[in-house]
Amino acid sequence: MPRIQKLPPAVVNRIAAGEVVERPASVVKELLENALDAGPTRIDVALEQGGVALVRVSDDGCGIPPDDLPLAIAQHATSKLRVAEDLERIGTLGFRGEALASIGEVSRLVIRSRTADAAGASITVDGGRVGEVVPEGCGVGTTVEVHQLFGNVPARRAFLRAAQTEWSHSSEAFVRTALAHPGVAFTLTHNAATSRGRRVHDLPATDSWRRRIADLYGEALGSRLLEVEASDGDIAVSGFVGRPEDDMAGTRLQHLFVAGRPFRDRSILHAVQEAYRGMLLSGRQPIVFLQFAIPPDAVDVNVHPAKMEVRFREPSRLYRLVLAALRTRFLADDMTARLKPPVALAPPASTSSRLWADEPVVEQAPPAGRPTPGFVPFPSRPSTPDSSPPASWTAGRDAVPAWEQAESAAAADERAVQMHNRYLIVEAGDGIEVIDQHALHERVLYERLKAAVERGGLDVQRLLVPERIDLSPAELELVQEHAATLEQAGMQVEPFGGTTVIVTSKPVLAGNTPAAAIVREALDRLAAVAAAPGRAASLLVDEVLHGLACKAAIKAGDPLSQAEVDALVRDRRLVRESHHCPHGRPTSLTLSRHELDRQFRRT
Ligand code: ADP
Ligand code: MG
Repeated sequence: MPRIQKLPPAVVNRIAAGEVVERPASVVKELLENALDAGPTRIDVALEQGGVALVRVSDDGCGIPPDDLPLAIAQHATSKLRVAEDLERIGTLGFRGEALASIGEVSRLVIRSRTADAAGASITVDGGRVGEVVPEGCGVGTTVEVHQLFGNVPARRAFLRAAQTEWSHSSEAFVRTALAHPGVAFTLTHNAATSRGRRVHDLPATDSWRRRIADLYGEALGSRLLEVEASDGDIAVSGFVGRPEDDMAGTRLQHLFVAGRPFRDRSILHAVQEAYRGMLLSGRQPIVFLQFAIPPDAVDVNVHPAKMEVRFREPSRLYRLVLAALRTRFLADDMTARLKPPVALAPPASTSSRLWADEPVVEQAPPAGRPTPGFVPFPSRPSTPDSSPPASWTAGRDAVPAWEQAESAAAADERAVQMHNRYLIVEAGDGIEVIDQHALHERVLYERLKAAVERGGLDVQRLLVPERIDLSPAELELVQEHAATLEQAGMQVEPFGGTTVIVTSKPVLAGNTPAAAIVREALDRLAAVAAAPGRAASLLVDEVLHGLACKAAIKAGDPLSQAEVDALVRDRRLVRESHHCPHGRPTSLTLSRHELDRQFRRT
């Protein structure tokens, strides 16, 4: 056995980094906590590639004096506690003094900061190598940039998922933190450096928690939440819960906070389930936003490296408190009396870009009726009245829905008529064109998907509630083998134990087509073509896009509104070779005027 030695700081930091920094989302969380501990009025977050290329967090808090910059990035250096007893009453989000040191070990970390009474300065740590403190002109506050996380640790870097996946984790970290601190203004920007960059969240400071929830998840959700409140001696719970009929398929809208910190806790969520018992269909989940007021010495936040879990001194008291808070509220509303069949909480997908920013968040609860085909110009139009979202959910939307706005624009263009719910008839230059609506739409979708994949800009929507698919072992193997292909086509499929997988994203162009349906279609096709040796990767992607287009296209038999007819007819000009659907079937036939004249014996 070699002799025992003390580990050099670089190794210690590297090991700590493994615990504290798992992925870009961990960096987002740590930097946000640091910013919040500095007492800011606003915090701006900018990410590139989901945070893999860059995480930048700027605050207007107290700043760091130039002389303290080297300490800020030193291991176990913190301004937040002095003696061990301080751990018993932690009033700040950070306290371990290891986040910046760890992050600096596995990235290029740049801190620029200024306090009210000193000049600004910056320091850079590149893969653990600490640079000099240099003067820097900047406003009061701190900007921390983390470039190329794990850039110097290829093994870790390889474990990061596609930018889209990291983005969803990072934005979730942002959302949780922003939920916990409504009094601070936040913004979140993604990929500002690219043409597709955008401001995802812009959250003004507010003293209303409901306001902050609505700013994050939409007015419709915010306005329907029920307020709850209860206390027992020195502990209290307050917040908002969803109506039983606004249930969800997953737990994404279950948020718990203590002392400005999001945390997970099975016992408390069990109490929530218990309170809703009998009001939800089995497997459905309620919406909960709860915060707990507890004396600092009754909760230990130092039990989890990423501080995701906390330990309460008296968990059973909390359990009873939560149960009581919710039950009282439900009794007051006499909700338990009307155990209506729950209505799927499905914010209309057409509002996804505004109300439910693309980051989390289109809830894909299956509509009551048959799934609406994904129709390109208006991917979310409910095709049957019974598949519309509950009226309350549509209330917050613009008075004129997108599909009606498009109507007039299309009408001026070219008049087309739908026949037998399957053919579109248009006046063509020298005759009459008969279009097969499915064949054309399939082609339009395919061309759009292909063009988007080629330019690397396929719009992908994260499913708020991932869809589960039970696969055969052979299909599971296909998923594993072709994960990259599926991902290129916008479908993120992740293992879920056994031969079950979950689909967490799909292309926006797929509209309301269930993700499980398009993944299955993709697997069928991959199984067929992957057997042929030497298929190029691009051809596999192409095959998957064909499958997507086929599944998501409107079908023969789907009634269309005039606006949809017009848009589809208009779109056929945008599409190369649009006279053939991807299978090679014709998308349209032309009856020439000459032929008509001949039939009517005009010539
Ligand atoms: P911790 O937050 O546990 O103290 P960190 O490594 O995250 O440890 O940060 C080290 C120290 O750097 C903090 O204690 C704080 O003094 C300083 N610091 C970090 N970020 C900021 C910021 N945004 N504003 C002011 N001070 C900061
Ligand atoms: Mg910290």
